[in-house]
Amino acid sequence: MNANVQQKIQQLKDELNTHNYNYYVLDNATISDFNFDTKLKELERLEKEHPQFFDSNSPTQRVGGAVTKNFQTVAHKNRMYSLDNSYSKEDLLDWEKRIQKLLGTDEIEFTCELKYDGASINLTFEKGQFVKAVTRGDGFQGDDVTTNIKTILSIPLLSNGDFVSDFEMRGEIILPLDGFNKMNIERVANGEEEYRNPRNTASGSLKLQDSAEVAKRPLDCLLYQVVTSERKYKTHFESLENARKVGFKVPETITLVTSIDKVFEFVNYWDVKRHELPFETDGIVIKVNNLQQQEELGYTAKAPRWAIAYKFKAAQVTTVLEEITYQVGRTGAITPVANLTPVQLAGTTVKRASLHNADQIKKLDIRVNDTVFVEKGGEIIPKIIAVDFTKRPQNSEPTIYATNCPECNTALIRTPGDAKHYCPNEFGCAPQITGRIQHFISRKAMDIDGLGGETVDLLRKEGLIKSYADLYDLNVAQVIPLERMAEKSAQNMIAGIQKSKEIPFEKVLFALGIRFVGETVAKKLAKHFKSIDNLMAADFETLISVDEIGDRIAQSIIDFSNDLSNIQLIDRLKVSGVQLEVSAESLANQTDTLQGKIFVISGVFYQLSRNELKKAIEDNGGKVSASISKKTTYIVAGDNMGPSKLAKAQDLGIAIISEQDFIDMIS
Ligand code: AMP
Ligand code: ZN
Repeated sequence: MNANVQQKIQQLKDELNTHNYNYYVLDNATISDFNFDTKLKELERLEKEHPQFFDSNSPTQRVGGAVTKNFQTVAHKNRMYSLDNSYSKEDLLDWEKRIQKLLGTDEIEFTCELKYDGASINLTFEKGQFVKAVTRGDGFQGDDVTTNIKTILSIPLLSNGDFVSDFEMRGEIILPLDGFNKMNIERVANGEEEYRNPRNTASGSLKLQDSAEVAKRPLDCLLYQVVTSERKYKTHFESLENARKVGFKVPETITLVTSIDKVFEFVNYWDVKRHELPFETDGIVIKVNNLQQQEELGYTAKAPRWAIAYKFKAAQVTTVLEEITYQVGRTGAITPVANLTPVQLAGTTVKRASLHNADQIKKLDIRVNDTVFVEKGGEIIPKIIAVDFTKRPQNSEPTIYATNCPECNTALIRTPGDAKHYCPNEFGCAPQITGRIQHFISRKAMDIDGLGGETVDLLRKEGLIKSYADLYDLNVAQVIPLERMAEKSAQNMIAGIQKSKEIPFEKVLFALGIRFVGETVAKKLAKHFKSIDNLMAADFETLISVDEIGDRIAQSIIDFSNDLSNIQLIDRLKVSGVQLEVSAESLANQTDTLQGKIFVISGVFYQLSRNELKKAIEDNGGKVSASISKKTTYIVAGDNMGPSKLAKAQDLGIAIISEQDFIDMIS
């Protein structure tokens, strides 16, 4: 029986790992999301029922959820060096001469690789199994970010097939441009500042405390070096080719060459082509291919002698700023946009660039008719780097930032500490009205089927809706006469709106579009306050006492709650039957029994899964932390609790309780 279960578990793990590999490494989906989820749930169930088969590298352990409060500092077994830079062919020829002399030969093979622009990571594998992931840090020691890294599904947690056994894989955690741009579109929609570049966002993601948040980010990992004491491979190229074969994401762009001339062909090719890559690269890396030669060359104080980076010059052009216009977002946030004389840059025609906010305009002292330097980084919209002051026209006047909304002419406001200006005419400014309703119906909010963004705009123009509360008063007869609307689609739309009354409170709270209240914050607030009435009645002190709610969010909620129009809107939603409190059913599972208590979970459990245990702690008001500290109240210990954790707990005198003790505690 158990052997059967074990076999079934192994089969599901293999299958899911293969699908992950096909999708995230080969970019070739071989299963529907639905079937994948079904198999994952099945595996989760089996693992829960048979905890003796728990495997920290199982696909079920990669969905995120664990929280790391403090990232442990870990020493690297092998130092992570930096790279020397070069900027010209002469630099590269000098480098070649130096190593030829040191090696006493002219016959040197090189690999050329792209230099991936992200955050370096060191993945340790023992007996082919992933054990930990550590950031570069200062090169001698870095932060243990294992929990977060596990959520990146292109990283295999075991090497499948013929490969070395104990090794480190080094690579770069990157945020591909597509995913980065999508994240920014969402941020703008939530009234938040855009992330400036993919690299910082990628490295910031590694240090997020909540791994579920990391799991949501479209991170990827490109691998570029195998470090091992096993002498299985003679060359760097061979070791990477084999790493790719056993499942690691090693880009195919790596190329073997035998002269600096050929290196330069690679450089010239990618200097142009890099703009078509799905991720950012700021140069290439040239390495001596032969591992024996690498060893002979060794390291300087900071970098290997056997490798060198070549930095591309950033693609830059100059053009003229013709006009500054202003865009109004759904929260009323104003974004100034530079309208440029069209110019070719890195393969695309550039006409517009974001100027971010008034401070940015002031900092650059940018004015209409100025000649500006435009640079293309990762963003869809290129950046203006600086003004060419030598070309400034005589009669140039400093830019006066817009004082009124370009859409409704209301005077703009700016609160201290906020980089953006806002149009305060929430209920009378067209893009804000439309934007807010579009947000309300969106998939992560009320998820209304049968109603799209364009129809919302149409309904508003026709005077049928002015707010999201109006949606619930619409009827089929009213919408049929609209352009491109038929009886069936009208019925679907109204049915979709009615159905949204079942959407749980936390999503409704997000849908309301309160500034700075994104998905995660809405969840936290819903859990804490349980109803819109409690939330709107809360004062500033109460709000900021909630975990992760800061001054800015608190003030935004208070502003929302004090606005008579909002109070009326909420009342109308209530009358319509929209969920404005946590349902009795989910409330029944929640208490304050564990208020103020901090738990660490360790070991294997039998009655509850780790996630259920976590949820039970949180539902009852407790907190879960990943590491033991003086602040820990209880350790819930299952079987096989780690010996170092046990020692630390005993050392600090922290109460260790069993799974059953915990269940008794909350029932
Ligand atoms: P730097 O940070 O400028 O000293 O450059 C060294 C860093 O480049 C390394 O720590 C790696 O994270 C990164 N890097 C990106 N792509 C590669 C690559 N193909 N080979 C080696 N290092 C790379
Ligand atoms: Zn306006």
